[in-house]
Amino acid sequence: MTDTMTKPAPINHWLGGKLTPGTSGRSAKVFNPATGEVQGLVDLASRAEVDAAVAAAVQTARSWRTVPLSRRAEIMFRFRALLDTRRDELARILTREHGKVHADALGEIARGIENVEFACGVPNLLKGGYSEGASTGVDVYSIQQPLGVVAGITPFNFPAMVPLWMIANALACGNVFILKPSEKDPSASLFIADLLQQAGLPDGVFTVIHGDKEAVDALLEHPDVAAVSFVGSTPIARYIYQKGTEHGKRVQALGGAKNHMLVLPDADVNMAADAAVSAAYGSAGERCMAISVVLAVGDVADGLVDAIASRLPALKVGPGSDAANEMGPLISREHRDRVAGYIGSAADQGATVVVDGRAQAFDGNGFFLGVSLLDHVTPEMDAYRDEIFGPVLCVVRVPTYEAGLKLINDNEFGNGTAIFTRDGGAARQFQFDCQVGMVGINVPIPVPVAYYSFGGWKASLFGDTHMYGPDGVKFYTRTKVVTSRWPDPATSRVDLGFPQNR
Ligand code: NAD
Repeated sequence: MTDTMTKPAPINHWLGGKLTPGTSGRSAKVFNPATGEVQGLVDLASRAEVDAAVAAAVQTARSWRTVPLSRRAEIMFRFRALLDTRRDELARILTREHGKVHADALGEIARGIENVEFACGVPNLLKGGYSEGASTGVDVYSIQQPLGVVAGITPFNFPAMVPLWMIANALACGNVFILKPSEKDPSASLFIADLLQQAGLPDGVFTVIHGDKEAVDALLEHPDVAAVSFVGSTPIARYIYQKGTEHGKRVQALGGAKNHMLVLPDADVNMAADAAVSAAYGSAGERCMAISVVLAVGDVADGLVDAIASRLPALKVGPGSDAANEMGPLISREHRDRVAGYIGSAADQGATVVVDGRAQAFDGNGFFLGVSLLDHVTPEMDAYRDEIFGPVLCVVRVPTYEAGLKLINDNEFGNGTAIFTRDGGAARQFQFDCQVGMVGINVPIPVPVAYYSFGGWKASLFGDTHMYGPDGVKFYTRTKVVTSRWPDPATSRVDLGFPQNR
């Protein structure tokens, strides 16, 4: 093996339209989860580096907001075309640093591109209202203006899609954007930065600053950062929301999840089993919309558990770069071991381990874990209470629809949920009853299309606006209402009364 193959590559910031080495002297290891090797060293920004990036962004913000809507839309169209033609390369970056299989990485990119397509319509999205003659000779109209410098802090599990949820609308609405991607898989953000530049985005409008808590805190406390979008785990989301709002920022902070799939006795068992397996183990369960709990109602349970278990031996787990594999490794060794710990604790606490992923052997030092199925899980068990974020599916047997619904509504999270049934009335009732932000009816992963918005309820989201779609436009703009009149100066007079409409 040559030296160049073993030496981890530096992963730098993207400042002023070019790769820029950090100056803090701090960096973090970036692993290839399929081999366990360190392949990169990502710079971790100091507070001073963040401050300098924000200062530069403030300068750029002045000119970017004057760029016409038609020009911003044109850049988005070009960005979309570049993402489309280069999606295979981007998918390889995702596989290399995150571990997900190539087909799944392509799926992530496709869902990310949808957001760019939505933002291509920005001239239409930013149309305001106009009321001619609101009062005598008085017209009133509303305009939506950008916030200025906005920041995004993103998780490891969707290194391309989640940044695109934010970037597309934020830039199209006329903001300059500072992205602080996950330090575990930071390279996708640099690939995106390069494509934005090729699409014609002026240098400095999009910045990538790598880092950890120090960089995040610097962004949260900086007076010139107007808004922060965050996606990640609930404890950090809560922290971001509290600290960001304390410093006067607009904040949307999306957190963790525990998504339940309610299977009624009339459901098609094979369809429900296919959906549960796909939604639980896709991307190794490292999706905030993964199904982690199946609520089996009444006598559907035995057949459903058998149907799920029968599908598991055929799943191919291995390096994501091999097209034959359906599931890759977990993000880190520590996370893999933590996930495996839930299988042991569930067994100790009385669950039945139907399939034990720890038993599957893998070559090499990758962070692999086989798929696991736990039956007879109860709400007191750790495997039920915590977000596991790995390929472990829990089955909780409940006697009735009401008992299943109560578990969903009592859960601290409310990101996604799904019901599987052939009864339209029951599905409609569920949609009305459940305390969850995104609901699937015979759809296991109901991630909304880009022209709706994405967001959970309860501890899955802190803030008032969901992400992307119409809520994204709302989040990244401020409304201004203008009241105007052009009277004959000869009619002018002093009037201390409160203005009334006449
Ligand atoms: P994480 O919360 O550990 O990290 C997210 C971001 O916060 C990263 O950029 C990280 O550098 C930063 N961060 C981490 N610790 C911090 C600290 N102490 N102070 C300041 N910043 C900090 O999340 P993760 O492990 O990267 O991602 C997985 C989590 O994200 C899961 O809980 C998953 O459910 C959640 N997630 C939620 C959604 C959603 O839309 N609700 C989508 C994707 C992922």
